[in-house]
Amino acid sequence: MTKVLYPGSFDPFTKGHANIVEQASYLFDEVVIAVLKNPSKRNSFFTIEERVEMIKELYSRIENIKVVTFNGAAVDLAALYECKAIVRGIRSITDTEAEIELAHINNDLSDKKVRTVCLFADNEYQHFSSSIVKGIDALDKSVSKYVEPSIHEKIMEKKMMRNG
Ligand code: ADP
Repeated sequence: MTKVLYPGSFDPFTKGHANIVEQASYLFDEVVIAVLKNPSKRNSFFTIEERVEMIKELYSRIENIKVVTFNGAAVDLAALYECKAIVRGIRSITDTEAEIELAHINNDLSDKKVRTVCLFADNEYQHFSSSIVKGIDALDKSVSKYVEPSIHEKIMEKKMMRNG
């Protein structure tokens, strides 16, 4: 049985992320989605707990997709869940460059025990990103095209709470 880890900030989880999860669950026996704290991304939209809950709800009926959180290195979490590889999504050349670097770091940190598998975004999701969702939302425009309906609902709720 081959398990893989799909780590990210997922703030919020987009249809682009879902596209990668779908591809990974088609290829591997189990996908562990890990919501990791990213210290370089300070302004969070949802708390880590909210993100985990939202993604869990999305995949509650799918047995081979799990959602976890972790405060540390993705390779350590991969080892903990016996994942042989870390899955990453590629949208562009820019993503590729960053992922090559990350793959080398993760090879080093895990003594080559945890490998990296890159999957390519399907055309229609190539320009989707969490930061675009946040940017569009900040302009008071609908982000329903970019996220699953249950996540869109949570974004609307958060907005209502913020606006009092
Ligand atoms: P991070 O904060 O680690 O960049 P993200 O949540 O932004 O994490 O993304 C997690 C992974 O999903 C990354 O590998 C990223 O490249 C990939 N990803 C994000 N959006 C898309 C998309 N639209 N299509 C394919 N992969 C994507």
